[in-house]
Amino acid sequence: MIHPNSHPLPPTSSARRIAVLGGGITGLTAAWRLQRGGCAPVVFELAAQSGGAIGAVARDGWLHELGPNSLLEGSAEVAAFIDDVGLGGRRIYAASSAKQRYIVRDGRMIAMPGSPWAFLGTPMFSWRAKLALLGEPWRRPLPADAEESVADFVVRRLGREFLDYAINPLVGGVYAGDPTLLSVRQAFPKLHALEQAHGSLIRGAWARRNVSGGPKGRIFSFPDGLQELPFALARSLGPAVRLGHRVRGLARGEAGWRVEFESGGVRRVETFDAVVCALPAGVMAALPLENVPAGARLAVLGEIKHPPVASVFTGYTRAQVRHPLDGFGVLVPQVERRQILGTLFSSTLFPGRAPEGHVALTTFVGGMRDPQLAGLDDHALLRVVQGDLASLLGASGAPVFTRVQRWPRAIPQYTLGYQRFKDAITAVEAAAPGLFIGGNCRDGISLANCIESGRRLAETAAKYAAR
Ligand SMILES: Cc1cc2nc3c(=O)[nH]c(=O)nc-3n(C[C@H](O)[C@H](O)[C@H](O)COP(=O)(O)OP(=O)(O)OC[C@H]3O[C@@H](n4cnc5c(N)ncnc54)[C@H](O)[C@@H]3O)c2cc1C
Repeated sequence: MIHPNSHPLPPTSSARRIAVLGGGITGLTAAWRLQRGGCAPVVFELAAQSGGAIGAVARDGWLHELGPNSLLEGSAEVAAFIDDVGLGGRRIYAASSAKQRYIVRDGRMIAMPGSPWAFLGTPMFSWRAKLALLGEPWRRPLPADAEESVADFVVRRLGREFLDYAINPLVGGVYAGDPTLLSVRQAFPKLHALEQAHGSLIRGAWARRNVSGGPKGRIFSFPDGLQELPFALARSLGPAVRLGHRVRGLARGEAGWRVEFESGGVRRVETFDAVVCALPAGVMAALPLENVPAGARLAVLGEIKHPPVASVFTGYTRAQVRHPLDGFGVLVPQVERRQILGTLFSSTLFPGRAPEGHVALTTFVGGMRDPQLAGLDDHALLRVVQGDLASLLGASGAPVFTRVQRWPRAIPQYTLGYQRFKDAITAVEAAAPGLFIGGNCRDGISLANCIESGRRLAETAAKYAAR
């Protein structure tokens, strides 16, 4: 195992210098892998802290995860990465009591069925909807190149009730998104592939039930929150991470790539052998690119929708909340006409999120469903959240601890027609050798996707630099 502070292959003076733009999980992963491979990365990060969307605030025994709350160990790569970074021993898996997931139906919280038998008995779907599912294996797939929204896909294969009470709340919880706008091929590629490979989701799921491959998708975090991961990467990278550095522009030149940046009010330029770009889409869209053929531009990325989301953390004494909080959390379907997207039972999920005798709830508000709600002032937001938590969970009285975190541009929406954004990125890479682009607007939004994106970027950039 590599100690997080060690530099397995110290860069030599002839090591290839690679600029990594953005110190979120994608950029840090890329830089860490480049350094291990003997390159000399330099990370330019605008903020005063590494991690991008990952961060937490700890106060008086409470821990508010500001952005992502958990990481899915869905692939062997993610599991091995955590070990290699030196965090294997720090990993805490979600409590077994957090297995249950709740959905609101007719104002009540209903546990999602965890087995075919539970499915038959659940009040979450009507008998009509359950019977209609029997026809799913015989419904024909669309041609592979047809583009369809998540909503149309689900209604076509599973029926309207599954859209309203399973997929709509899930899409709200994962993307803060709207299933009528998201492309199933882009936003849920595995679901799309299942239909294409097996002609049916049920047949596909049945065929894959015994396929083992890596860990079984357990959810985890760390005692001090997910930020332990970017902090460990940044520690390992040492002075290669430059915080408070705003990238201003890129130019291709004879001697390599010139990166223009600003730090402490001073603008400077440095030259690198290659550039890895892991900036948010909106920032890439506005980044001046010099000496790159005029037809290849990233400006179109400015059209990617990023709805605002507020993460509202509330702490109560255990006695204030009637519900046992025996689960991961609750998701709210749009048809239920409530104001919140959903709530994580944070103190059930992981230890150390609330002081003894208290419970912590993290509620998400806004998204594509209700973007204006995310813009309410703290007082109004807390009133909205308290109202829904009171009627759903029986949370009475005022919370004893509150914190609001706003994400004005939370998550890129992989909407219908998204391929044009990916094509623009591919065209720029082809026209600008030595520039490699990734992150959550290209390779998927989950942290696991971003870790894989960082690895891909490091591999391609190192190969280019060694040519
Ligand atoms: C509220 C919320 C909840 C989420 N929940 C989950 C979850 O539970 N599980 C999960 O897997 N995923 C979740 N996600 C998604 C996941 O967190 C993100 O997709 C992922 O962290 C993005 O990482 P990134 O490195 O690609 O981008 P970012 O984290 O956005 O990093 C980009 C970096 O670039 C920096 N930057 C910007 N402009 C400049 C500039 N000009 N110069 C230099 N640096 C600049 C930024 O400061 C930032 O650090 C959530 C996201 C949000 C917002």
